[in-house]
Amino acid sequence: MRGPVQKTCECCGQVFQCGGYQCWCSRVTITEVQMDWIAARYQDCLCPFCLEKIASGELGPRSG
Ligand SMILES: [Zn+2]
Ligand SMILES: [Zn+2]
Repeated sequence: MRGPVQKTCECCGQVFQCGGYQCWCSRVTITEVQMDWIAARYQDCLCPFCLEKIASGELGPRSG
């Protein structure tokens, strides 16, 4: 059985757990545009804190 993997957030450098296939990050609701923004900048998923910021619009693509 595979447990969560420890990763370092490329955005803030914080260490976090990534659940891989059933990761928490798939539960965070982000738009396709935000997804593209992340994919263009980072190789892997970000920490919950940063992903939350992107989801809320504090980070990531702005309209326009
Ligand atoms: Zn982060
Ligand atoms: Zn993840």
